[in-house]
Amino acid sequence: MTASLPGYAEAAALIADRAAWIAERNPRSEQIGLSAALARVLAEPVRADRDMPAFPRSTRDGFACRAAEAASHALLAVAGSIRAGDPLARPLPRGAAWEIMTGAAVPQGADAVVMLEHVEHQEGSIRLAAGRSLSAGDNIVPAAAEARAGDELIPAGTRIGPAHIAAAAACGYPSVRVFARPRVAILTTGDELVPVDSTPGPGQIRNSNAAMLAALVAQAGGDPWILPVARDEAPQIESALRPTLDAELLLISGGVSAGKFDLVEPALAQLHAHFHFTGVRIQPGKPLVYCEIPRKDAPVLPAFGLPGNPISSAATFLLFAQVILAALAGSREKTPRFDAAIAARDVKGKSDLTRFVPATTSFADGHTQVEPVGSQGSGDLAAFARADCFVMIPEGLDRLSAGSPVSILRF
Ligand code: AMP
Ligand code: MG
Repeated sequence: MTASLPGYAEAAALIADRAAWIAERNPRSEQIGLSAALARVLAEPVRADRDMPAFPRSTRDGFACRAAEAASHALLAVAGSIRAGDPLARPLPRGAAWEIMTGAAVPQGADAVVMLEHVEHQEGSIRLAAGRSLSAGDNIVPAAAEARAGDELIPAGTRIGPAHIAAAAACGYPSVRVFARPRVAILTTGDELVPVDSTPGPGQIRNSNAAMLAALVAQAGGDPWILPVARDEAPQIESALRPTLDAELLLISGGVSAGKFDLVEPALAQLHAHFHFTGVRIQPGKPLVYCEIPRKDAPVLPAFGLPGNPISSAATFLLFAQVILAALAGSREKTPRFDAAIAARDVKGKSDLTRFVPATTSFADGHTQVEPVGSQGSGDLAAFARADCFVMIPEGLDRLSAGSPVSILRF
C-alpha cells in the first residue's frame, strides 16, 4: 500500500511543477502604499530612478583632496567646507583640500577623502599624518557605482522585506505594485468538532484547525476564508464545497484517511477533480490529497485534503500547500524554505517514510541546534505549542544521531 505512494521528494517535485504552471497565469495585482508593502510580493520591478549614488559620495568625515598631493605629506590649504545636502562645491584648487562630511558630494578634482583622524592641522591647512597613507579612490563611492538610472534593483516575484522597502523609498516609490493576496477557502470537517467558544461535550473537541490554518495562510501571504464546519455526511460535504469554487485555493481539513466517515475524496471526485496524489510517504500526513478542480470560465481550483490531526495538517500545509499558495501570490519560491541545523540528540527515523518531527531550535556553539519536543503523536497540541519547526528525517534512516546536520522547516 505505502510503497505505491510517492515519496516526499517525488510529491514535492510534482507540487513544484504545478506551482510553476499556476504562477504563469498572471495573478491579480494592486497598487499599495510602501508602508503597507512589507511581506507582500512585488508584481512590477523596482528600478533606480537616477544613478546611485547620483554624485560621488564621501563615506567619511575628513578632507577631500588629490591623493597624489596628500600622500607626500605636503601642507594643503583648506579651501572650504561641504556638508551632506550642500549643492556640488566648486572644483578643488591645486594644493588644497575641502573639509567634507559623510554623505556630502566630493568636489570635482578631488579623488580621495582623507579621514579626519588621519590628518594634522596647521593654521588653516592640513597634512596627512606621519605613518598614514592615502590612495586615489579612498573613502569615495563614485557616482553610479551602486546602480545606473533605470537598472532593476528588485525583480518582480520578490517577497518584500525591510531592505526592499529601503531601496524603493530611496528610488522615490511612495507605492508599489504587488500581487493580490490569494483567497484561501478553509473547510474543516468532522462530527466531533465544536466552535472555539463552546464547551466540548463527551467525545467532542474544539475546532483548532480552522484557526491554525487561517494563521498559516495569513503568514504565507494568503487571505483566509473560514467556512462553516461540515459534518461527516456525503451530501453535507458536497454542498459545503460548492461556495469554495470562488476561492483561489481550497484547504479541507479531515476526512481523508481510510475510515468509514472519510468522505472528502469522493466529494472532490463529484466535482470532477483531477487527483495528482492521494497519499505521500511522510509521517505525519500520509493521507494527504492534492487535486485540481476544473471550473467554467476560470482557472482550475487547486485543492488539498489535509489530514485532520493538527500536527499533520500543519506539516502538510507547510510542505505542500504553502508552495501552491506562494505561486498564487506571485512569488518565485518553488520549495518550502528549509534551514540547516544540527541535531541536539538522536532522533528515530523510519525505513519507508520521511518523518517531520515537531522540534525546537536554539543557537549554541555557533550553530542552530534542534531538538524534538517529544509528543504523544500528531494530535498533541500541548507539545506542538512548544515547537518552532519541523525537523526532517529522510526516509531509510533508522536513526539520526546527535551532532548530524539536518534540515528544518520553521513556522
Ligand atoms: P480525520 O483526518 O478526519 O480522520 O481526523 C483525524 C483526527 O484529527 C480526529 O480524530 C480529530 O481528533 C482531529 N481533528 C480533525 N479535525 C480537527 C480540527 N478541525 N481541529 C482539531 N482537531 C481535528
Ligand atoms: Mg474526521
